[in-house]
Amino acid sequence: MRVWIGIDDTDSRKGMCTTYLALILMERLKDIGEILGFPRIIRLNPTIPFKTRGNGAVSFLAELEDLDKAMEIAERTVNDYAELEEENTNPGVVFVEEEKVPLLKEFAIKAIKDVLTIEDAMKLIEKHRIPYLKFKNGRGLIGALASVGAVLEDLVYELITYRMPDKIGKPREFEKESFYNVDFEFYPTIFDTVDWCNDVVMAVPGTPCPVLFGLRGESVEALKKAIEIVKTEPWEREQIFLTNHATDMHIIENGEVKEFHSYRLVGKVIKKPYEIIGGHVFFEIETKSGILKCSAFEPTKQFRNIVRALIPGDLVEVYGSVKNGALNLEKMRILELEKQFLELNPLCPQCGKRMESSGKGQGFRCRSCKTRAFEKIKIEIPRKLEKGFYEVPPCARRHLTKPLIRMQILGRHIFR
Ligand code: ATP
Repeated sequence: MRVWIGIDDTDSRKGMCTTYLALILMERLKDIGEILGFPRIIRLNPTIPFKTRGNGAVSFLAELEDLDKAMEIAERTVNDYAELEEENTNPGVVFVEEEKVPLLKEFAIKAIKDVLTIEDAMKLIEKHRIPYLKFKNGRGLIGALASVGAVLEDLVYELITYRMPDKIGKPREFEKESFYNVDFEFYPTIFDTVDWCNDVVMAVPGTPCPVLFGLRGESVEALKKAIEIVKTEPWEREQIFLTNHATDMHIIENGEVKEFHSYRLVGKVIKKPYEIIGGHVFFEIETKSGILKCSAFEPTKQFRNIVRALIPGDLVEVYGSVKNGALNLEKMRILELEKQFLELNPLCPQCGKRMESSGKGQGFRCRSCKTRAFEKIKIEIPRKLEKGFYEVPPCARRHLTKPLIRMQILGRHIFR
């Protein structure tokens, strides 16, 4: 029988990674069956408070003779590798017959865009009689089901390498330059490998997990060629995953604004951007459903210069997640730029000198020529912004955010 196996919530901030555990499980299952195609990493709602890092869950398709045996192997693998002693690690594994996968599609969409409960997952499991393994409170069942049910209309590949066991937890050894070479040679087919402007290698994580590096791209061939270029410590295993990274799958179009949801919304800037200590920049827009605060936090680096240059009256389309009452910007499209004027006292038509005020509401006069005028003159100041799309730099990018380089649109201002 062909079964999709979904797994989630096996790691903690101290270590492990669900993708790694899934690979071990795939290897162990090869004794009793066959793994078909690429495994998938499905990123879910990025605002979920329980997430360890990127709220990712893993699924893969297996041809199995004996489901009970497969469940036994999965249980052993989770017990061997998951960070079960951590309070926030609550693994879940599901075994979904291939024919039942479409029944999970709606649930997966909700897990990516909305907030679900463990009860929601259990109801679905019971309704469709899905075999499962639940550890501790079993919150991972939400991600496990969603990773199986997600339908990817857009997708990218990620090639992940995993460290030798004795290296895990130690600083990663790699030549920075070699990742810049990957970017130089393969961008935009392979993207978000490095951040040139902020000098960060995005492909190499800084966490104590087993991942050595991950490269994201549109083509399996390009990814395979790229790992010939990188210079790093030796790795133990490598795997290509299908993912919904860089697809904007979390974005709700013009919905009613709620906490822990992500949106694309159009609004008019109604408050001049302001900055607080730490370099975080905020402004307010008026949308169809009310006033919304938007934020560009310090890690969004040069993107904040775009935000700082907005003025009341500008029409913008914002993309981002709402948390603590504000939409954290992932990207923004400037639709209309308000004209900006400087108001000055008029010039004397005879001598050309600037007139002075004759007192409040009394107009202006030239002391020497005795000429008078009643209104200030307005001079248009060119705006420092252009219309079009702007995005946060790669070092501030979320897994799910679609970079402008993947969007077939005019007016892209790409920070690379
Ligand atoms: P990593 O990316 O390093 O694997 P993570 O960031 O994916 O870790 P998890 O340890 O998997 O974090 O924790 C996320 C938890 O949130 C999981 O238990 C998952 O089932 C649950 N979850 C995911 N999406 C939702 C959602 N939309 N509503 C409620 N719970 C969710």
